Amino acid sequence: MLDRASPSVTKNIMKKYGLFPKKRLGQNFLLDRNVLSKIADSCAITPEQYLVEIGPGLGGLTQELAARSRGVLAIEIDTSLEPALKELASENSNVKFLFRDVLKIDIEAEIKNAFELDEMVSYQVCANIPYNITTPILFQLLENCPNMKDATLLMQKEVGERLLAVPGNKTYGRLTLTTAYYADVQHVMNVSRNCFFPQPEVDSSVLKIIPQRAKRVLVNHEEVFRDLLRIAFQKRRKTILNIASSFFKLDKGVTESILQELGLATNLRPENLSIEDVARLVNAFAP
Ligand code: SAM
Repeated sequence: MLDRASPSVTKNIMKKYGLFPKKRLGQNFLLDRNVLSKIADSCAITPEQYLVEIGPGLGGLTQELAARSRGVLAIEIDTSLEPALKELASENSNVKFLFRDVLKIDIEAEIKNAFELDEMVSYQVCANIPYNITTPILFQLLENCPNMKDATLLMQKEVGERLLAVPGNKTYGRLTLTTAYYADVQHVMNVSRNCFFPQPEVDSSVLKIIPQRAKRVLVNHEEVFRDLLRIAFQKRRKTILNIASSFFKLDKGVTESILQELGLATNLRPENLSIEDVARLVNAFAP
């Protein structure tokens, strides 16, 4: 079987099918079998496990996942890759390709359909995701994939830092808090830009996102929580007194006394609040 992470094989496949990397689709192919193998190791895949890959590209990671799992559903938006990926499907009967936009489908319905399952099962996600849609992909997985066991994702290093940021850090924000609400995040490894073709302008990190069924904090109204985070981090230099009073439409005196009861100083800024602080704030103002 051809090694689809080898630079010469990639070159030949692209030439044979008249392909070229599409920047607008974030097509930076990972051409380092050693790194791909380490990513798959960090997934801790068992032979019984089903996997979802987002953006198989030319199939370098897909090969690694197929060899270790029961089945891989690889979701790719670029239909021009279909002829090249067909070859891979013919060599690996446990790989199913779906040529759709991952943001516009019900991933779990597609898994059931692809593997003809009567009931939904737990599955893992492993992917080198397109950088331009990292955040929507994270939200899609966290909000709409209740049976996902975990997701091992290669992403822009700077986004990884945002996911792992602590309060007070300048990269701490809406993405950090939304992810922390749903999941634990672990840093797996960094990957140099030299491992990709074409070479991106940034380095990458692999992160493991592990959804927590028993949430770390409870909020009475998830939509209020989400809206407050969105508004608060659009105005990150404003104090929580100003943000809370305008968001909950209360006068400053009332807002101040509620914040005092919560033990939160009125001059804190959104980036100073932990996930627990935000939850207490939402529950106090929107009981
Ligand atoms: N997995 C390959 C690798 O590691 O070499 C390619 C990774 S490349 C960074 C990202 C892939 O995601 C590309 O193949 C791109 O076409 C695909 N992609 C981009 N937007 C997508 C979307 N909305 N839905 C599904 N796939 C998408």
